[in-house]
Amino acid sequence: MHFKVNMGGRGVPANTFIVNVDEILTDDGIRNEFFNYKRLSFKSITDSIRWCARHRLIHNSLRCAPCEEPMSFVVRHQLGDGFRWQCKICGASSSLRKDSFFSRSHLSLEQIVTIVYGWARNDEQFRIICEAEISSNTRNTIVDWCSFCRDICEQFLVDHPSEVIIHEQNFVNPNDPEIHTQNVENLWMRTKHKLRRQFGTSEDLFVSYLHEFIWRNKFRQVRDYLFNEFLLCIVKQYPI
Ligand SMILES: [Zn+2]
Repeated sequence: MHFKVNMGGRGVPANTFIVNVDEILTDDGIRNEFFNYKRLSFKSITDSIRWCARHRLIHNSLRCAPCEEPMSFVVRHQLGDGFRWQCKICGASSSLRKDSFFSRSHLSLEQIVTIVYGWARNDEQFRIICEAEISSNTRNTIVDWCSFCRDICEQFLVDHPSEVIIHEQNFVNPNDPEIHTQNVENLWMRTKHKLRRQFGTSEDLFVSYLHEFIWRNKFRQVRDYLFNEFLLCIVKQYPI
């Protein structure tokens, strides 16, 4: 189905939602989806906005706080995302990114989704830069985004303390045959390799990488679906 933006002109009421409510994915819907870089290469900005709304990463509808009326989804070409929420009563407007994981960035939604996908795949940064088409003067932002991703991992571990304990035992007791020692060690070797490759021997980042490692280890059984699990972490931490 193609997405037609209602411009709200000449007596036609503008949309007060981005996608139909029945298109919004459940946790299992997100969990079972198959992704690759190609599938995350959107045909248009509206496709990327729709995708984010379906995956509960941005508001699908928004009420104006003072008026309590649904805001309209309107075209604003001069602004980054090309659209904004606007109240027809008081004229107040709001970013599509309000309350979302994306609110702190000027990169496009598609670029951020691509970076997060590449991070979840544990791809090299040069690959992610290439896939996300990051321009040379904003390359530091990819380092920031990988750091934000590790923050999500850290918060997940704070929110799931019992599971953290289990995985810390895995980490400090790798000889226990009950646990998948080899997988843990392999993952830890790859993580250390990544650490050295990207940041030399900087120890400030060690704890941050350790959170990433523990998070990845927790989901090692579904490692082809790490991006899906990571999306669910974002959904939980940035409820919209
Ligand atoms: Zn209003």
